[in-house]
Order: sequence, then structure tokens, then C-alpha cells
Amino acid sequence: MIIIGGGAVLTRDPERPFIAGGGVAAGDDGLILALGPVSRLKREYPGAGFVDARGGLIMPGLVDLHHHSRAVFSRGLTPRGERPLRYMDVLEGSWWRLDRAMNLEDVYHSASASFLDCVRNGVTTVFDQHSSYGAVSGSLAEVSRAADRLGLRACLCYEVSDREGESKCRAAIQENLDFMREASRRGGSLRRGMMGMHAGFTLSDRTLEACMEALPATSGCHIHVAEALEDTTHSLQTYGRSIVRRLRERGVLGRKTIAAHCIHLNWEDVQILRETDTAVVHCPESNMGSAVGCANMDDYARAGLALGLGSDGCGADMLGALRTASLLCRHNAGDALAGEGVVPGLLFRGSPTAAGRFFGLELGVLRPGAAADVIVCDYQPPTPLTAANADEHILRALRGANVATTVIAGKVIMENRVLKALDAEALLSDARQQAADFWRRACV
Ligand SMILES: [Zn+2]
Repeated sequence: MIIIGGGAVLTRDPERPFIAGGGVAAGDDGLILALGPVSRLKREYPGAGFVDARGGLIMPGLVDLHHHSRAVFSRGLTPRGERPLRYMDVLEGSWWRLDRAMNLEDVYHSASASFLDCVRNGVTTVFDQHSSYGAVSGSLAEVSRAADRLGLRACLCYEVSDREGESKCRAAIQENLDFMREASRRGGSLRRGMMGMHAGFTLSDRTLEACMEALPATSGCHIHVAEALEDTTHSLQTYGRSIVRRLRERGVLGRKTIAAHCIHLNWEDVQILRETDTAVVHCPESNMGSAVGCANMDDYARAGLALGLGSDGCGADMLGALRTASLLCRHNAGDALAGEGVVPGLLFRGSPTAAGRFFGLELGVLRPGAAADVIVCDYQPPTPLTAANADEHILRALRGANVATTVIAGKVIMENRVLKALDAEALLSDARQQAADFWRRACV
């Protein structure tokens, strides 16, 4: 067991939100044993290892509720001749083209590099939607192997789509099923699987039926919804109903389904998402990058939606994404108070609550019995920091680069920016070599 202590503990537990000069004791079962003043914890657990927070801010680990690990291999790459103007140009000219060229080694090394980024940015749980139509079968095992390497808690799925033809679509559904079976067979609290789906406009009714027929009742789907106007208009024109209504009629929505983006919704869609308790993931940095619009978090929060925050593969800095979410909300509304009281909850309440539905654990909170996923941010505030103003400090000052220490399930993965059990430089060197080879194959 270990004690992470010697800093200000921001617990996110309303019963005891803040402990100055405190610490967290984590048991070998991966759960939190106790919190309190460091001196008391050391007295109570004399045999425990000690991780020194060096006066920093001790917080629950972060969750990225919508990630694409493979996206890291496109960093710095512009496929020859590509000048994407519209959303569909980006998908067809870049992402789908790259997916077709991916082999299993690309999958493993891109996921390793991406998950290293997660750990360095304090992300302890990731929901990754994978796609590599160049190598479908066995690809989730490679992503999982990369998550094992980093000790990361991860819920994985493969992006089912009709875009590469019927046999690859069937293989993608099978890949999800095989991995879900494997994840439940392995047991443990670090790995889960679900049914990945691209988006309504690349999924026929027949494919949606095939996915839902095969899906175990205890699992759910991870899908892009109304990210761009194209998804919304395609559904209305092709099926005579909104994409959200269509997905509900096909049984896709529910409390174990993750709907990423959800920008272009009507009021009935919002009600359906609330009634089905579907987790809606806001991805502000991706949405701004793709210029697809902005989901109105204030309206969605008022409507009672289950909301979370995702990177959509734009790096893994969730503290940075939180700040962007806040600024985008204000900018979009023309109101400097927009998002107040809503935006921090995306990362610190909504995402861990949704993630907890899959892992059967209390995530995003430091209290006895919750998952021992703990981070330490190197932050010496220039002004008083309390439970009441901590979110303002975080929004104004913290980034992923402030994360010094990352503990997952009671295991120290990174301490004072040093990875404990692996050589980060070697991992990145291997990834760079593999990426160069991938670029040669992908951009011919
Ligand atoms: Zn996405």
C-alpha cells in the first residue's frame, strides 16, 4: 500500500471537500483506504510506501470519455494533396484513408504513445474508440496491450461502419464482441469493452440491428451523434427522423451508451437523451478544430442531461480541454458568465459518473472505498485556495503539464514526471519509427 501525501487534497467529496496538508492512503486492492492529515496516515499505516506531493494539489484522476488513440499517428501529417474544407473532406481525405493503412503494429505503437500522453496529463481512465480497417481482427487486443503497458484504466471499442463494405463491417462487430468477452473473462477493474459505432450516416438500419442483436444486455454503445450538420440532415433526408430518434428506435441509447458531440439537436432530441440517461460527451477542442459548431452546455445541463468531457483524440490534456470548454461556452453565448457552475462538472462529476457505470467503481472522488486513482498537480497558488474556489484556480491556471504524479488503482505510474515501470523515451522512439513507416504506407 501507499500514501500520497504532503499537499492540499481536493477530494470532490461534498462531505469532506478539502484537506490542507493531507494525504490519501491506497490499499493493494486498488481502492482508497483512508484520507486525513499525513502524520495520522503514516502512524496508522507504518508499512506503507510514501509518494511526496511536495506541497502540490492532490486530486482524483481524470477521465477522458471520448478518445481516439490512433489519432496520435496523424500528428504532424498532412496527407499529400489534402486541403480539407468540409467535415466530410476531413473524414474521407484524412481519417478514413489513414485507417485503411493501419496494421496491428501501428495500432500498438500509436496506442502506447497516446496512452503515455494520457498518464502524463493525469488521465487515469480513458474511453477509446478505435478504428483500423487495414487490420480489424485483433486490433483491440493491441490497444489493450498498450493500456496494460501504461497501467491505464480503459474501456475499449471498435468503430463499426458500413464505409469499408459488408465483410469489414461484420468483422468490426465481431471484434467488439470478441473483446467484450475477453475483457469480462480477464476480470479485473482496469479493462472493459463496449460496442463502438461510427455515426448514423455510415450505419444502415441493418448494421444497427446487427450490432444491437449481438450486444450483451449489460453493455452499451459508443457513437458519434450530430457532430456535424451533415449527420443531422442525412438522417432527416434518408430516414425521415432525427438521428437521436432513429438511434432510440433502434435501441442504441441508454445509461451505458456514450454519445459524443451532440451539437445539432432539436428539443425533442434533448428530451430523448435525458429520458434514456445517455451520456453526452462535449469535445470542445475537436469541435473548434473541425469547425462543426458548439454544443450548448448550459441548455443541456438545465435539461438534466448526463454530461461529460472528451478529447476526441486532440491530445489528452483534459485540464486544457476544460479551460477551452469554459472559454468556448462564454464566447459562443456572448456572455462572460455562461457555463458557470456547469463546465467544471463535466470533467469532475459527469465524466467519472458515466465511467463508473462501466467499471462498477466510484471514480472521480477521493473517499474510502473509491478507486485509488489519484493525481498530484505541481501548483503553488499565488492566492488562497479553498474547496469553494478550487475550480476557478484550475480553470485559470492548471494544464496537463502541471500533473507531476499519476496513480492508477493504487499503483504509482508516474512520480514527479518520471514513469516508474517503463522507459518513456524508448516508447516514443519506437512509436516515431513506426509512425514514419506508417506515413510511407498511408500516403502513397
Ligand atoms: Zn470521435
